[in-house]
Amino acid sequence: MKLDNSPVQEINYLEKKLFIKRDDLLHKDFSGNKARKFYFLLEEKLKGIQKIISHGSIQSNAMYSLSSLCKLKGWKFEYYVDHIPSNLKSNPIGNYKYALQNGMKVCENELPKKFNTNELFISEGGAVSKASIGIKNLANEINTWAKKNNIKDLKVFLPSGTGTTALYLQKFLPYEVLTCACVGDEDYLLKQFKDLEKDYFPTILKREKKYHFGKLYKEFYEKYLELKEQTNIEFDLLYDSLGWIVFQKYLEEHYDDNVSYLYIHQGGIIGNESMLLRYEYKFKR
Ligand SMILES: *Cc1c(COP(=O)(O)O)cnc(C)c1O
Repeated sequence: MKLDNSPVQEINYLEKKLFIKRDDLLHKDFSGNKARKFYFLLEEKLKGIQKIISHGSIQSNAMYSLSSLCKLKGWKFEYYVDHIPSNLKSNPIGNYKYALQNGMKVCENELPKKFNTNELFISEGGAVSKASIGIKNLANEINTWAKKNNIKDLKVFLPSGTGTTALYLQKFLPYEVLTCACVGDEDYLLKQFKDLEKDYFPTILKREKKYHFGKLYKEFYEKYLELKEQTNIEFDLLYDSLGWIVFQKYLEEHYDDNVSYLYIHQGGIIGNESMLLRYEYKFKR
């Protein structure tokens, strides 16, 4: 499988010229930052592996991407969750639905303590050091694009969950990488960085207020709709809405005509299916 369809698109938004790296377009079944982070599973000869085991939330983008990958590779996929809400069980939607269609086996149990030699364990959200292999490709693409377009000073922004993507991007890019915490707070994100590397930490932009991951916020829904209308691009509701709110404030305070700004679109659009249902139920009337 080739992962080479990630153009850089210029947009006018917030009365500014901005660039978007369209990693959401990488591949129909395997896109966004999960495609980058799990690239090593796609490429490497993993001798004797027959099953991937992972864990996390029941609507996670990582879960869906791993299910696609396992289907492609002919591997089994076992995913551990605390609990599946009964209405989701009887009426699967979003990442959960499509992961089931890809053959995922869900276990409402604790993770096994030990794994067999033919099983590979991937920690929640793909926060593994080998994720750097695919993220290096992303950094190389950005470098090539910047050189070709004579861009001297560039700032790259992407919202973080585990922080794995932002961290390795900063490691492989000569430009400043800006990010914000979407899961947990700024201290959690910094700790995540430290668990993976000693230095090359991205700049963490602070959020104006506290948000809880996966909760519904009116301003997230409004940002999503505004972005879609003004840019014709659909962004993800879990990370990008908050990402754009934080990035917008940064641009309002720091925008510099001599600097180019690149926002990384990290996919996750399938997850919007379930989020949109929740938002429309809550806010549409
Ligand atoms: C997983 C994900 C993130 C967070 O990526 P990390 O590497 O965990 O920081 C951001 N955006 C989308 C759309 C994702 O699916």
